[in-house]
Amino acid sequence: MGHDQTLYVSQEHLDIALNHTKLGFWELELENPRMICTPQCKINIGAGEKPTVSYEDLINAIIPEDREKMQADVALALLPGGGTYNSQYRVIHPDGSLHWIEANGKVLYQNEKPYRMVGTTLDITAKKDMEMLKDELLSFTTHELKTPVTVIRGYLQILYTFIEKTGNTRFADISKKSLDATERMTRLLKEIADPEYRKGDQIILQKQQFDVCTLLADTIASINMVSPQTQFRLHASNSALVMADRDRIGQVLINLLNNAIKFAPDSSEIVMVVDQFEDQIKISIRDRGIGLSENEYAKIFQKYYRSDQIKSKVEGSGIGLYLSSEIITRHGGRIWVEQPEDKIGSKFIFTLPKV
Ligand code: ADP
Repeated sequence: MGHDQTLYVSQEHLDIALNHTKLGFWELELENPRMICTPQCKINIGAGEKPTVSYEDLINAIIPEDREKMQADVALALLPGGGTYNSQYRVIHPDGSLHWIEANGKVLYQNEKPYRMVGTTLDITAKKDMEMLKDELLSFTTHELKTPVTVIRGYLQILYTFIEKTGNTRFADISKKSLDATERMTRLLKEIADPEYRKGDQIILQKQQFDVCTLLADTIASINMVSPQTQFRLHASNSALVMADRDRIGQVLINLLNNAIKFAPDSSEIVMVVDQFEDQIKISIRDRGIGLSENEYAKIFQKYYRSDQIKSKVEGSGIGLYLSSEIITRHGGRIWVEQPEDKIGSKFIFTLPKV
């Protein structure tokens, strides 16, 4: 009796919490697909009036532009090594309004085979609106800043060239440092202002067949030009062919390598390994830098997230990893971070499907 009562109270608590947060709850039977949704879950996806909602109803409720991505996210969760589901999609409510939904879930296994998924839905429209406002504000501000910064950079360039010729090394050094700082500022502004950079959900891929090992070698060569002190060690087989957007994958590599340099002020060694499996290629990038705490492993792939401990010390926008993760998942791959075996620095890993 006592036991039952405890159960009843916690069930009631759960209901209150679910209602309060407007969190919907769903279950999906995988073999002969059957779906169960709580009333709040139906409201969230704009099907509040319906007595039942099937998986097909859910897909149809999602606007066509987001359907493929959502189905890819489900497929990803069901892959070996997956197990967790996370997706954001848009639905239209009966009153015609557009709502952003965040869905999270977990795969349940029977004899190591996925047989059911359970999870939640949450209406995140308000959060998305804020994000859009932030994006707008950022592009306005960066746009306004770009012109004066370009002017300052131009004048500093003239000053530096002039002082250098006079042979006054102290002032030449000062003007060079100011010039370098303005250049960093220009790069940062470009990164934030570029709408392509911020809107991961609008990336269009132009796929072609290419060798990842060659791309890695090319990327290392170009990074070495600006950062000659960095020592790269590449362990790769002769070739690893993928069908992907070469420029976008290059962008991911540059993001990861720049971070590996930026967040490792006391070490210049970066080890890269390319592993080939039957159906996928795995690329890992390991630095010996400041590393990350375990509770940050998922957060760092969120838009604008930057670690509290480095915010004031290292420049950045918190967009690079968010965009990298969008690019990789859009290719049907996965990206994550791990702690290296010797617990020094961090190891970023991503996979791409093999040709
Ligand atoms: P940014 O580098 O512009 O801050 P990113 O999206 O590339 O943005 O990275 C997000 C955050 O993840 C960083 O601010 C940092 O806190 C953390 N991070 C990324 N790469 C590394 C790394 N190699 N080592 C330690 N922390 C990292």
